[in-house]
Amino acid sequence: MAKNLLVYENFEDFEIINFSIDNDTKGALEVLKWAYSHYGEDIVYACSFGVEGIVLIDLISKVKSNAKVVFLDTDLHFEETYKLIEKVRERYPELKIEIKKPSISLEEQENQYGPKLWELDANKCCEIRKVIPLQEVLAGATAWLSGLRRDQSESRKNTEFINKDNKFKSIKICPLIHWSWKDIWRYVHKNSLPYNELHDKAYPSIGCKTCTQPTLNIDDLRAGRWTGTGKVECGLHQT
Ligand code: SF4
Repeated sequence: MAKNLLVYENFEDFEIINFSIDNDTKGALEVLKWAYSHYGEDIVYACSFGVEGIVLIDLISKVKSNAKVVFLDTDLHFEETYKLIEKVRERYPELKIEIKKPSISLEEQENQYGPKLWELDANKCCEIRKVIPLQEVLAGATAWLSGLRRDQSESRKNTEFINKDNKFKSIKICPLIHWSWKDIWRYVHKNSLPYNELHDKAYPSIGCKTCTQPTLNIDDLRAGRWTGTGKVECGLHQT
C-alpha cells in the first residue's frame, strides 16, 4: 500500500481535507481534482446515468477525460437509459464506460428464486443484480465516486465529500453533496447536457423499470422508487 494513500483501513488516521465550496461547482471540481490526483487509475465512478450522474460525468471529463465509469446493468433498465448511455458515449468518446452485469441472467434468477424476485424480495434482487456486481467492481479499486446529494433524502443528508464506506470497505467520494436539484438542472441546461427523457415525464429518480414509477411529489426526489414497499435504497449506499 502506497504511503499517504487514503484507504479504508487508515481512514481515521488521515487528516481531514477541507475543500472550499465557495465556487461555481460548490467544491465538486476541487474534490474531483484531488480524487484523480490522489488515486490515479485506482478510482472508479459507478454511474446510474440519472441526472446527477450526467453532471458528474461532465465534471469528471474536465479533470480526467479517459476516466473509468461503470454502469451496473441489471438487465431491467428502461430503454431510455440505454439510449442515454449511447448519447454519453458520443459526447465523451474518451471516457471508458464499462457495463457490469450480474453473474446470473434474469432467466437463471427466475429458475433459482421464482418469477419477479423484485416483488417477492426486492433486497435479494438488488443484492444479486446491483450490490454483488459493485462489490466485484470495487475489488479492483481503492475508491469510488458517487453522485449522491445531501438534499435527495433523509438517509443521504449526512454524506460528506469523502466517506468511509463500511459496506464495501472502500472510500466513497461524493463531489455533489452541496448541489440542490435546481443547481443540477441549471448546469444541465447551461451546458446542453444529454439526460434521460424520463425526467421530463415525472421520473425524478430512475432505476429499474420494474421498481420505478412516475411521481408528482416534488418534495421527495426519491419518490417513485420501490413505491409502497418502505424500501428507499438499493443497498449501494447503506452502511
Ligand atoms: S431495483 Fe428492483 S429490479 Fe432492480 S435490482 Fe433492485 S429489486 Fe431488482
